[in-house]
Amino acid sequence: MSAKYVFVTGGVVSSLGKGIISSSLAKLLQSRNLRVTIQKFDPYLNVDPGTLNPYEHGECFVTEDGAETDLDLGHYERFLNIYTSRANNVTTGKIYRTVIDKERQGAYLGKTVQIIPHITDEIKRRMLLLGKSGQYDVIITEIGGTVGDIESLPFIEAMRQLQWELPDEDCLVIHLTLVPYLSAAKELKSKPTQHSVKLLQQDGVQPDILICRTEHKLSMELRKKLALFCNVRPNAVIESIDADTIYKVPLMMRDEKLDEIVLEKFGLNDTPEPDLEGWKAFLDRLAHPEANITVALVGKYVELQDAYKSILEAFIHAGAANRCKVKVVPIHSEYLTEDNVEEKLAGMDGILIAPGFGERGLEGKIKAVRYAREKGVPFFGICLGMQMAVVEFARNVLGLKDAMSTEVEANTANPVIDLMADQKTTTVKGGTMRLGAYKCQIEEGSLAYRIYGKPLISERHRHRYELNNDYVARLNEAGMRTSGRNPETGLVEIVEIPEHPFFIGVQFHPEYKSTPENPQPIFVAFVKAALEYNKSRQK
Ligand code: GLN
Repeated sequence: MSAKYVFVTGGVVSSLGKGIISSSLAKLLQSRNLRVTIQKFDPYLNVDPGTLNPYEHGECFVTEDGAETDLDLGHYERFLNIYTSRANNVTTGKIYRTVIDKERQGAYLGKTVQIIPHITDEIKRRMLLLGKSGQYDVIITEIGGTVGDIESLPFIEAMRQLQWELPDEDCLVIHLTLVPYLSAAKELKSKPTQHSVKLLQQDGVQPDILICRTEHKLSMELRKKLALFCNVRPNAVIESIDADTIYKVPLMMRDEKLDEIVLEKFGLNDTPEPDLEGWKAFLDRLAHPEANITVALVGKYVELQDAYKSILEAFIHAGAANRCKVKVVPIHSEYLTEDNVEEKLAGMDGILIAPGFGERGLEGKIKAVRYAREKGVPFFGICLGMQMAVVEFARNVLGLKDAMSTEVEANTANPVIDLMADQKTTTVKGGTMRLGAYKCQIEEGSLAYRIYGKPLISERHRHRYELNNDYVARLNEAGMRTSGRNPETGLVEIVEIPEHPFFIGVQFHPEYKSTPENPQPIFVAFVKAALEYNKSRQK
């Protein structure tokens, strides 16, 4: 069977949840034994989102092969329980870079290099790449941005061309739109969707399916009206009503028969019925918690939920695994002071210090670590959070008052966190951190060993700095164990304090690999420890 391509576009407004819709359709098709992957085409000029501030575009998600990508790839992995890769996220910056490099090499000698055909050819090549690998039956391509944007036009044009180049039964376009409710008129309005589809049609693309984001149910009358004006069949007007959890959306799309409509167009009539038992079991655990805990997420991008997307999702998975509802309270590290740290953290059953870059909020993070360490509150530090746990320990236990990371204090006398050797000569910022999956050897008898239940693990990374090995002996002697190391380089990957009920810091980002069907072990153990701490405080 040739690979089938689904394109997902968005109209009317941004933030409609194309990523969740794409993931939900993918989940349904995967549950029918099809091999599915999802890719995202982003219309900005950054080569990847690694150089973007999280305020701009939310979390930067890191793949196994070390690509810094859009946070939607996190949703793809969580829903499908498979890994994505560098090839799954393409930006306008990547496309132009390839074309311009080729032009310099003389690949187009004698020709004027143009958006059509050169840029669109490169877009099409990348759109078909995963399909050509033979690994997948269905490739869902999410086109970032909103139809009508100048910057996404070349993507829409490439998709238009592919609609004609691919056999009709191999290609399908979904348009996700908003059907707003006007409370004064007590009515759902179809006009924005009609306009949005017209914009697509002007660009030569006729969607096969409309998915309508709405706060109220769509009547059959409204579906028929949308179908009539937008050239789709009434059963291809799909309702996507607001859900209390994104993980319900696959079941809602199943109720709307989205998978059946897609399979019909593809002529795939003999796939088995969806098997969603594992997914439903997760949703059941999620819906019926037996306990509640509150954990602090100490970071500097807390105003924006999306900045720590994978961490928040990992708590949902770990909560369900423990049959416990985890309330995550964002705490702004910039405003944590000596005077208020106790008051702000008093009600917490666990404290997580988030990853991050730069100086802002660092002292607040160090104060939060000290509080957790001294009060015996379950502690989990990720990347920068782990680094600040080491700084705090060096300052307040080893007595090295000026201990700091050279990321913010280049000339500190006690650089307990320092630039990795191979980073010292790196000047280019984009894509040059220690990125992607690396192995970690865990010491037997450690907390990390109990958590993972095995000596060799692999987790994803995104950092330039590391624990300075010159300080390891002193840290160990004073009670901070370095329980995990990279077997090739000896870089410290995990620190813990055996005296403490639950204190772990990891240089890697365990949140990236957590999924509903495979909750990440440290998150599961941290939630369990927080639950125990909560119970012990009730006594
Ligand atoms: N800024 C730190 C480093 O580069 C930590 C990075 C992170 O938390 N992802 O090492």
